[in-house]
Amino acid sequence: MDCLFCSIIKKESPADMMHEDEKLVAFRDINPKAPVHILIVPKKHIPSINEISEDDSNLLGQLIYRAKHLAEEKGIAESGYKLVFNCGRDAGQIVDHIHLHLLGGAPLGGI
Ligand code: AMP
Ligand code: ZN
Repeated sequence: MDCLFCSIIKKESPADMMHEDEKLVAFRDINPKAPVHILIVPKKHIPSINEISEDDSNLLGQLIYRAKHLAEEKGIAESGYKLVFNCGRDAGQIVDHIHLHLLGGAPLGGI
């Protein structure tokens, strides 16, 4: 399977890694849309939110929990941040391996 984020997880492609544990990794977005832009990515290859199952609920919760900690570490917990899953073409999803965007560090407006 040819997947960029699986390749980063396997350390076959480079990334500015900020966190790794048994279930997930977090690394800086290569084309940041905000002063802080981190991707939180499960090690399990799931193409999009359309393919999640109930068994993935805990894993998805861990992505959010990690986002909270990274926001604290980056000093944006109080100023605020967005957490975004893009799903499918109209949302602009370009990497077919689910990832949670953590965006902050400047006023980003609504939705
Ligand atoms: P999405 O539109 O939700 O699929 O977002 C994919 C994100 O991955 C974009 O914000 C890209 O800038 C980012 N991205 C693509 N390639 C890399 C890479 N090699 N390292 C880090 N981020 C990447
Ligand atoms: Zn993958």
